[in-house]
Amino acid sequence: MPEHLKLTTDFRRDRLRLVEQLREEGVQDLAVLHAFALVPRHLFVPDAMHHRAYKNTPIPIGDGQTISSPEIHAISLELAEIHQGDRVLEVGTGSGFQTALLAALGADVYSIERLTSLSNRARDTLLTLGYQVHLEIGDGSLGLPSHAPYSAIIVGAAAKKPPAALFEQLVEGGRLIVPVGTSNQTLYRYTQRGAEHIRERIGGARFVPLIEEST
Ligand code: SAH
Repeated sequence: MPEHLKLTTDFRRDRLRLVEQLREEGVQDLAVLHAFALVPRHLFVPDAMHHRAYKNTPIPIGDGQTISSPEIHAISLELAEIHQGDRVLEVGTGSGFQTALLAALGADVYSIERLTSLSNRARDTLLTLGYQVHLEIGDGSLGLPSHAPYSAIIVGAAAKKPPAALFEQLVEGGRLIVPVGTSNQTLYRYTQRGAEHIRERIGGARFVPLIEEST
């Protein structure tokens, strides 16, 4: 079998079992479930963790960082309401797994990561799999104004409070998914409505901290 085909057929049963589990947990968006069936999560985690890649758990990815559980990614993507062609900003590329899910959903993905080592690794994996995304290095708490506005912004690290710059980079009706807090965290969705941001609580969360170098 050609190498690139093997990459996506390995662990296929485990991947489909995970999709079924996400559905049972209440994820309904078929495009999101389909993205999970396509993207090989094991290639985004260290080799020693391959056997855990399709369990619904967070996994350490090196540099003191963690890839969120599939369920958190699925819920975030569902509530971000990603449509084909939407311009989306991801803060915290990490392993690049969620970046790949966003690309599989057909989004025009911009992803910013502060750690060069992680971004480079993510770039290699995404290139191998053929996903075309824009990866940037920098402090994502400032957003990425050069390509704003975004239909959705998904923050993969917990902020003490939602960074003001991110609200300014949303389109009208745009969604910001962001975990807020330190030891006790809550995942929120903010929707941009005129001068207001409508806040909805998604649930409790445990993310690595968002490092805000510029404050
Ligand atoms: N969703 C990712 C996991 C993200 S872990 C995945 O699928 O793998 C959170 C990431 O946010 C880490 O890689 C961390 O380095 C990064 N991060 C933390 N603060 C940041 C900041 N201010 N700007 C950009 N990236 C940041």
